[in-house]
Amino acid sequence: DKMSLNEIRSKFLSFFEEKDHFVRPSFSLVPQNDKSLLLINSGMAPLKPYFMGIDTPPKKRMATCQKCIRTGDIDNVGKTARHATFFEMLGNFSFGDYFKNESIQWGWEFVTEHLKLPVERLWVSVYENDDEAFEIWNKRVGIPAERIVRLGKADNFWEIGLGPCGPCSEIYFDRGEKYGCGSQNCKPGCDCDRYVEFWNHVFTQFDKDEEGNYHPLPNPNIDTGMGLERVACIMQGVDSIFEIDTIRYILDGVVEISGQPYGKDPKKDISTRIITDHIRSVTFMVSDGIMPSNEGRGYVLRRLLRRAARHGKLLGIKELFLNKLVDRVIQVSGGAYPELVEKREYINKVIAIEEERFQETIDQGSDILKNYIEELKESNQKILSGERAFRLYDTYGFPLELTKEILEEEKISVDEEAFKIEMEKQRERARSARQDHEGEGWKDDIYSRLANEIRSQFKGYHSFDLSSKV
Ligand code: ATP
Ligand code: MG
Ligand code: MG
Ligand code: MG
Repeated sequence: DKMSLNEIRSKFLSFFEEKDHFVRPSFSLVPQNDKSLLLINSGMAPLKPYFMGIDTPPKKRMATCQKCIRTGDIDNVGKTARHATFFEMLGNFSFGDYFKNESIQWGWEFVTEHLKLPVERLWVSVYENDDEAFEIWNKRVGIPAERIVRLGKADNFWEIGLGPCGPCSEIYFDRGEKYGCGSQNCKPGCDCDRYVEFWNHVFTQFDKDEEGNYHPLPNPNIDTGMGLERVACIMQGVDSIFEIDTIRYILDGVVEISGQPYGKDPKKDISTRIITDHIRSVTFMVSDGIMPSNEGRGYVLRRLLRRAARHGKLLGIKELFLNKLVDRVIQVSGGAYPELVEKREYINKVIAIEEERFQETIDQGSDILKNYIEELKESNQKILSGERAFRLYDTYGFPLELTKEILEEEKISVDEEAFKIEMEKQRERARSARQDHEGEGWKDDIYSRLANEIRSQFKGYHSFDLSSKV
């Protein structure tokens, strides 16, 4: 019997609970008191105050399964076997408590004794100068030196600007030659899908100062992150994260609606996977209180949703379909994330309204864009004007990124500077038009009304984030 994704999550959390970790539910996707980040993108992100000593953790050892969004990976989604914009990150953390020895050995124990992954297919990487980690893997754990790769700063050193930082060590699974790129240098760290990085251990042992010097921290920390979908992919022996139990169920819903069988046409499969991925992101984002808008997080949500809608068109789907998939997401993830179940109706409504809004203009917008492309091609031009890109955005609801993506297929780019100028002009117009609503900020009427109406159905909606902190 294959281990289900939900089983792997519980196994991980109980493993670390037995090792004296405080286990708490995922934090919201919306960062709290952190302006540096639009959306939570790792298990560590919401724990930053504990790592930086601003706040005291409930315990020096913690473990979570954290909801994450990484829009930076969007271009990989549907194309690699391992990237999603929404994924769950399992993590164990030490705030000045245990360090490399325990982290590495427990990681190994979990992977080999609990997940029972075959030892001969596991590889590890360490930071090029981290002899300490190398020795632990080699001498204590017993991994042959040939299967430990040393990687440079880009892959295996974690730092964001100044402050706490340190080397990483990653665990990889060799999926076999058939997934490889064939290059002689294909080894862990290669971009292809043969060696899947699935667990990253970060050893936060330095403090970087303004001159760029690294000072050892008196109490170094541990921060690990393991992609739940990636582990499930390995455990279930499937080709990509889109074929694991939970995600496959959502993907089957897309196939059912589109009538396009999966695995026949590579291009259509990419669209099918993109829709599958984006509907997960969108469902979780809305459940955390994010509303579609033209700014910040709301814009990320809008982009993902509209991109999914457009790929629906590419698959020939005529009707509104995105909110039909929401229930599938809730079915597979509602057990671990009760907020999905609680807000089912709300999520459905927000997504239906946003899709409907886009539906009204997507066909027109697509036709207009097609004409622009024709015109440019005829006159041998490679750049769409900012005015035209803005018109698509403003009148037809095409996020700039969507326009860019469609144009990229034709090797055409957008004059983004001019687009920004148009955008600024419009903001200026909007500002003068609402002088009597000073300080209220830009608001999307439909959603703010909808929010109040539906929010009232969910008692305590506004205190959700607080009450979920155990
Ligand atoms: P990759 O090199 O494959 O892009 P990463 O090094 O960017 O991964 P980390 O920042 O180390 O990833 O995150 C910790 C773990 O989270 C990874 O080892 C992986 O298992 C998982 N992970 C990271 N990005 C994604 C993603 N886009 N989709 C699914 N899982 C991911
Ligand atoms: Mg990455
Ligand atoms: Mg990596
Ligand atoms: Mg990594």
